[in-house]
Amino acid sequence: MFKIENKGKSQIKSRNRIKIYSYILKNGPVSRTDLEKKLGISAPSVSRIVENLKKEKLIREIGKEETSVGRKPIKLVINKNARYIVGISITKTKIYICITNLGADIIYRNINRLDEIESEKDLLNAIDRLITSSLNITKIQKELILGIGIASRGIVDYNTGTILRCYFNYYKEPIRNIKVKDFLQSRYNCEVIIDNNINVELFGNFFLSNNIKDNKKNNILYIYMGEGVGGSIICNNELVRGKNNIAGRISHMIVDPNGVLCNCGGKGHLEAYVSKSAIEKQYLEIKKIKDSEINIFEICKMGNNGDKVCTDIIDDVLEKLAFAIANLQIIISPNTIILAGEIFDYYDCALEKLNEKLQSIIFDKRLYGVELIIRPKKDIMFDHSATALIMNKIFTVE
Ligand SMILES: [Zn+2]
Repeated sequence: MFKIENKGKSQIKSRNRIKIYSYILKNGPVSRTDLEKKLGISAPSVSRIVENLKKEKLIREIGKEETSVGRKPIKLVINKNARYIVGISITKTKIYICITNLGADIIYRNINRLDEIESEKDLLNAIDRLITSSLNITKIQKELILGIGIASRGIVDYNTGTILRCYFNYYKEPIRNIKVKDFLQSRYNCEVIIDNNINVELFGNFFLSNNIKDNKKNNILYIYMGEGVGGSIICNNELVRGKNNIAGRISHMIVDPNGVLCNCGGKGHLEAYVSKSAIEKQYLEIKKIKDSEINIFEICKMGNNGDKVCTDIIDDVLEKLAFAIANLQIIISPNTIILAGEIFDYYDCALEKLNEKLQSIIFDKRLYGVELIIRPKKDIMFDHSATALIMNKIFTVE
């Protein structure tokens, strides 16, 4: 439907069709004259493509009615519900699904637990079952799905659409080579894109919303602190993947060579200090509490009330984070650093303290014109961000 043909005249036609549709999508309502002028496409071509898009019910006309001052010009808008996009997020224990329309409105959302994932087949079937049941509930036909975008934990090969290695539940062995793209393309016959979840989050929410229209060269570092720690980098508006798509996986950056043991077996890695479970574990160890639970929200709350143990723990977390950022600053030189983590949601002066620490260790203060932005946990929806992968792939024409 929005495929670019790869030969001669049909290539130009198919590109113009996407350009026109995308322009209406982003700027609608627009007139036919707007399309001719802004896109530099001839009037007969615009007219032919618009007629076709109308016939397929992808767009419609508005403003036909007579008014007291005469006829309003006819404008074009998209039919938001003509097609749909599926977004999926794969975590250690759950799969999230979200279906959006072409206006990026969420039509449906659901979560399934991932129990008993022991093989590639188990995971693929679990994804398939969730998509099928969601389409049944929403009564959306398979044929109306433009694409499926997936955000996954683990190591993802973006080009082949394969999860190379991922741990699920509490099984010791990771599952390898899960061919998600091949499987879903054969089942749903649509565009399928899978990427690392932190890349998807950064791409979906900042890259697209920032919009490259203004030609601003964005250099963004995204640091995500949750159960694990993740990172993603945009340099000159491009996601940095590196070999094996693992650029930006900052969780195992060394922030203290003689430090505590990380889950991976290494010493003094960032994740061993700033992940949610690391912070909670530290509290229980210092307090010598066994067989009990504490959560990061409570630690932050006690910290806000001046509890010394909690403020010390948080200070240490922010210090380790500052080391990591200072090192990354030299390599990437970002103009924006986005921070997601409950410490920033719940601890009152987290950002202020982090900034203070950064100022004291940064290489050259004159170079440090970085904007630090907090991304609240409540805004993070990996499944929704994953739909942006599809929108971008289908509606971006150079
Ligand atoms: Zn590690």
